[in-house]
Amino acid sequence: MAIAAVPVRSRLRVHNFPPMIIDLRSDTVTKPTPEMLEFMASAPVGDDVFSEDPTINQLQEYAASLFGMEAGLFCPSGTMSNQIAIKAQTQPGDEVICDEGAHVHYYEGGGIAFNSGCTTKTLKGIRGVFTADQLTEALRPSDVHFPRTSLVSIENSCNRGGGKIFDFGEIQRIRKVCDDKNLKLHLDGARLFNAIRASNQGPKDFGRLFDSISICLSKGLGSPIGSVLLGSSEMISRARRIRKVLGGGMRQAGVIAAAGLYALQNHVERLGIDNDLAKQLESTLNSSDAVSSVWPVETNIIVFELQDYVIPNQFIEHLKSYQIHAFQVGPKHVRFVTHLNLPAETHSVLSSALSSFSA
Ligand SMILES: *Cc1c(COP(=O)(O)O)cnc(C)c1O
Repeated sequence: MAIAAVPVRSRLRVHNFPPMIIDLRSDTVTKPTPEMLEFMASAPVGDDVFSEDPTINQLQEYAASLFGMEAGLFCPSGTMSNQIAIKAQTQPGDEVICDEGAHVHYYEGGGIAFNSGCTTKTLKGIRGVFTADQLTEALRPSDVHFPRTSLVSIENSCNRGGGKIFDFGEIQRIRKVCDDKNLKLHLDGARLFNAIRASNQGPKDFGRLFDSISICLSKGLGSPIGSVLLGSSEMISRARRIRKVLGGGMRQAGVIAAAGLYALQNHVERLGIDNDLAKQLESTLNSSDAVSSVWPVETNIIVFELQDYVIPNQFIEHLKSYQIHAFQVGPKHVRFVTHLNLPAETHSVLSSALSSFSA
């Protein structure tokens, strides 16, 4: 029986939000653009467990060269990419040092213990940002009583810190401590490109300082899936083995890697727009009666605190009546995240919503 051919273009229908829905909950809600879908549909593929997927190979090489690092590994998620980096650079019984709010510790289901058999020592940073001095204080002398510290992990920008970025000089000092104490340094760069757009450093500056970097393709870059882990060829070949053990060895995954490649080549520059919009929303929030304070915005995440008398749920429901979706992230804290699927009216609609709100 003949099956009527469906033109490719109509099969690639994009289910973007209707333009007037303003989904500020997260930059993970972004959907592939029509151009990205076209690129995915035409990507050459092969079996990536045999390292034979040309699109995945291209993505890995492109990302590595962007950061001036030797090799890359395409992973299904940022969580897996972080966990592989930790497993590849520790031994069971070791200790990993990170901020108390770090994604690797706070949001990865106890993965450091589960996957690597390591303990975690957490530092109390400011909005996720800690200092080289705090790291030095946390280090223990070499003694059989203590776990061996082998890895330090930094997050830039800091998710739970409301998009705060590390001062680059401080990262250099942290690197120095790691060099002195023979520690590996990992960067959870889920939103590293947002941080890069907001600072004077480029990817290669970060590539030089870290043993491993994980970047997310599925946040503000707008890819539907995927992360890339970067490091030395030797580390990445160990990482490839660990990815297989975790069940992350994929076959013709060039179809999805193509989205990431497209995003890295076309969506990095525009992150500046998201950062700028976040600043605009910050100033509007600052002049709203319902808001008691806004954490100073540095990238594309905005966290603000409501006045005591404002009931968060009521506030969020009010925003919803303007098609604005937001996340409550604390007793009185609400989060907005800007991204590429927001309509041009975002700022004006928020202004109207705020000025019509009464508690
Ligand atoms: C989103 C995110 C990750 C990875 O998340 P996945 O949902 O597993 O892709 C890692 N670190 C930070 C800081 C994140 O925000």
